[in-house]
Amino acid sequence: MFNYDAPADLLQNKVILVTGAGSGIGRTAALTYARHGATVILLGRTISKLEAVYDEIENNGWPQAAIYPMNLEGAREQDYASLAATLEREFGHLDGLLNNAGLLGELKPIAQYDAETWHRVMQVNLNAPFLLTRELLPLLRTAEQASVIFTSSTVGHEGRANWGAYSVSKFATEGLMQTLADEEDGISQVRINSLNPGATRTAMRATAFPAEASDASAPPEEIMPLYLYLIGKDSLGVSGKAFHAQR
Ligand code: NDP
Repeated sequence: MFNYDAPADLLQNKVILVTGAGSGIGRTAALTYARHGATVILLGRTISKLEAVYDEIENNGWPQAAIYPMNLEGAREQDYASLAATLEREFGHLDGLLNNAGLLGELKPIAQYDAETWHRVMQVNLNAPFLLTRELLPLLRTAEQASVIFTSSTVGHEGRANWGAYSVSKFATEGLMQTLADEEDGISQVRINSLNPGATRTAMRATAFPAEASDASAPPEEIMPLYLYLIGKDSLGVSGKAFHAQR
C-alpha cells in the first residue's frame, strides 16, 4: 500500500473536482478530500447519489461541497465549456481535478466485442477526461500549484484477454497523461499523473469478479493515502508519472 500520512489541513482552501463522486472510489475520495479541508465539486450522473455525498460532507461540518450533475457519456464539448465557465464564476480557480469516473463495458474477447459498447467505454474513460481536462486547464493554470489525476488500471499497463475497450482506454489514459505532462512541463505549475487504484471493493470490482469474496479487495478508504499525496502539495514537482496505490 502506498504510504503517506496526510496532515489534517492538507487541502484547506483548495477547490477540487471529482468525477464519479457519487459512488465507489470517487465517493470516498470526495469525502476524504473534504475531510482534509477541500471544497469539493461533486460531478456525476446520478443526482441522488451526489446529494447523499453532499449531505455527508455537510453533516460532518466540512467545507460546503457543490453538485454538478453531468453524464459523461452524452456530454458535448459545449457542456464542458459551460462547466468551466461556471467554475470560473463561482470559484475563480481550480486546485485539483480527479478524473475518476469509469465504465467497465463488457468482458469479452476483441473478436466478439460489441462496437457500441466499445464507443461508450472510450467516451467515458478517455474522451470525457480529455475534454474535461482541456476545458479546465486555464482554470488549473490560474491556481498556484494544481494537480490533475487520471485514473488508470493494472490492465492499462499490461493487456489482458477479455478486458477489451476498458484495457485499451486505460492504456490511452496513460498516453494522455504523459503527453499532457510533457506539454505543461516548464510552461505551468500544473502537475499531471496517473493513479492505478489496484483491486478495490466497489460495484465495478464486483461486476468484474463476481465470484470473488468481498474482503479479497481493499476497501476504498485504504487506498486514499495516494489520492491525498497526489492532489496535495507534498507531490509538488512530481509530474508525468504512473502511480500504483497498492504496490
Ligand atoms: P464504480 O463503477 O463503483 O463507480 C464508477 C463511478 O463512475 C460511479 O460514481 C459512476 O456513477 C460514475 N460514472 C460511470 N459512468 C458515468 C457517466 N457516464 N457519467 C458520469 N459518471 C459516470 O467504479 P470504481 O469506483 O471501482 O472505479 C473508479 C475508477 O477506478 C474507474 O476509473 C475505474 O476504472 C478505476 N479502477 C477501479 C478498480 C477497482 O478495483 N475498483 C481497479 C482499477 C481501476 P453512478 O454511480 O451514478 O453510476
